[in-house]
Amino acid sequence: MAVPPFDLRRQLETMGPALDQAVLEVLHSGQYIGGKVVARFESAFAGSVGTAHAVSCNSCTDALVLALRALEVGPGDEVITTAFSFFATAEAISAVGAQPVFVDVDPGSYLLDLDQAEAAIGPRTRALLPVHLFGRPLNMERCMAVAHRHGLKVVEDCAQAAGSRWASRPVGAWGDAGCFSFFPTKNLGAAGDGGCVTTNDPRLSQRMRELAVHGMAERYVHNTLGYNSRLDALQAAVLLVKLPHLPSLISARQRHAEAYGQALAHVNGLVLPSLPGMAGHSWNQFVVRIPGATAQVRDQVRAALQQQGINTIIYYPIPIHRQPAYRHLDYSAGSLPVTERLAGEVLSLPMFPELTVDQRGQVVDSLRLALGNVTAPLQGLSA
Ligand SMILES: *Cc1c(COP(=O)(O)O)cnc(C)c1O
Repeated sequence: MAVPPFDLRRQLETMGPALDQAVLEVLHSGQYIGGKVVARFESAFAGSVGTAHAVSCNSCTDALVLALRALEVGPGDEVITTAFSFFATAEAISAVGAQPVFVDVDPGSYLLDLDQAEAAIGPRTRALLPVHLFGRPLNMERCMAVAHRHGLKVVEDCAQAAGSRWASRPVGAWGDAGCFSFFPTKNLGAAGDGGCVTTNDPRLSQRMRELAVHGMAERYVHNTLGYNSRLDALQAAVLLVKLPHLPSLISARQRHAEAYGQALAHVNGLVLPSLPGMAGHSWNQFVVRIPGATAQVRDQVRAALQQQGINTIIYYPIPIHRQPAYRHLDYSAGSLPVTERLAGEVLSLPMFPELTVDQRGQVVDSLRLALGNVTAPLQGLSA
């Protein structure tokens, strides 16, 4: 039996009937854009994050753009962020005309190194854009302290972290804005694209709402150049069915993470996610590291797993600062050593709430076997 990296079928078995009904209701209502269902979802989502406002939109990429635009981050401004993330994190900064400034990540958490972020602050820096990568929450007390010391805005990229908390406050409720993705593989997945920005600032919320509908404040009066970025009513209906299940879906992810952690502890040639203080981790991904002099070791393990039917994914093989699209920013190889090293060593094991105990066992056994058969040189665990 093959183990996929992600599987929706079992979720559809349990939530299917409620989803069918919710979708059909919207279909027959004739209200496909905006309307009550979208408003209900926004208020439910804001409630779950604990913010006063939530502005839904087409994707997290758009959510980031809306937040940055509403904060008036633009040409001439710099935004400090991580290069160990999905491309959209930086793409959104560039899309508003600002420049991403990449700093390295912490080798234990793989998240934005706040000391390096603070050191990179210059006269043009306007905002910090941290990412709660893989569902792991960044230390937001420290992040906000850095921002306040320097008068910077904070936009949290919560795409992989719906349901994550730092110090018992949900991510997305710490910064000026929190940006979420409802892409199907994220913690709260729609049946297509979707996104949302959370904020406690009513003016920011209003500005983002305007920007999402062509900069339109009142009908056919356009205050500014905006976007067409909306969450479809059909997607809102799907999300309204799923949102109440989010805590139990995340508990299931946490159980898998704990079981993986126990079963894989002390396996030679493997570095597990560091666990201390991870109560608020939502485990969108369970990412192990296979240290080696080159990515060849990791790739060999991945291929061996594949042969045994275990499908893994590499998030992310090329860090953002080394992407062809950012060649003009001139980050040379070796400029962000931790990020670059992670890109060659990380491997995401199958992780989704409905993963079975059997599947988990299969992953563990296959991984042990694959690591035992590595021929390329491994590095010690101290790495
Ligand atoms: C998925 C993702 C995004 C983009 O989300 P979309 O909804 O697909 O636009 C942004 N940042 C991170 C870290 C992501 O994982």
